[in-house]
Amino acid sequence: MRVLVVEDEPTLSAQLRQLLEGTGYVVDQAADGRQAWALGGVEPYDAIVLDLGLPLLDGRTVLQRWRAEGVTAPVLILTARDAWHEKVAGIDAGADDYLTKPFHGEELLARLRALIRRANGRATPVLVCGPLTLDTRSGRASLDGEPLVLTAHELKLLSYLMHRPNTLVARTELTEHLYAQDQERDSNTIEVFIARLRKKLPAGLIETVRGMGYRLQPPGAGAPP
Ligand code: CA
Repeated sequence: MRVLVVEDEPTLSAQLRQLLEGTGYVVDQAADGRQAWALGGVEPYDAIVLDLGLPLLDGRTVLQRWRAEGVTAPVLILTARDAWHEKVAGIDAGADDYLTKPFHGEELLARLRALIRRANGRATPVLVCGPLTLDTRSGRASLDGEPLVLTAHELKLLSYLMHRPNTLVARTELTEHLYAQDQERDSNTIEVFIARLRKKLPAGLIETVRGMGYRLQPPGAGAPP
C-alpha cells in the first residue's frame, strides 16, 4: 500500500515516514501544498495523510482540487487542537477522517487501516480468501490457521491482493502501489515476488491472467465469465 504524507514540519514528516514504513507502507512525501496537489493528482495512492496548514497552497484547497479532479483516495487530515471549524471545513472539502495534533502513532495507523479497508469495500480488519487469512492490524498472515512466514515484500504484495480478492490486478498497478516515487521500478521483480509467494500458497490461489496481471481467488472458484 502506498501512502502520501503531506506535512511541512520536517520532524513530524520524518516521524510519520518512519512509522508508516515500519508498518509496511510505501511512503511518498510532500512538504508544501503545490507539490502535494501535483503528486496526489497523478500517483495512485491508497491513502493520503494531509496536514491542513501548508505553505504555498493550504491543505483544504489541495483537497478540494483533488476531489474536483476525481482523486478518490481516502484522505486523513491533520488539524490543530481545538480547531473544530477546520475539521468541519476539511470534511466538507472531501476528507474521510481527521486526527488532531498531537496524536499517537497507533491511532493514525488504526485510522489509516480502516480508511484503506473501507475504500476497498472491506468492513473488518481480518481479510479472508479461502484458506488464507490476513490480520491487517498485526500484519500476520495464516494459511489454514497456521502462521505463514513471509518477507516484508511478500507481505506487501499479499496485502494488496487480499484487499482486492477475485479482482484482476495489473502488473503495472502492483508496481505503482508497491514502490515509492523515488524507488526504482521494475515489473520483472513483481513476477519474481509473485513466484516466491506462490511457493508458500496452495496452487491456484494466485492466478496469472496472461499478458494482464494476477487474480487472487479461493481455490476452485474459477475465473469469472
Ligand atoms: Ca503545517
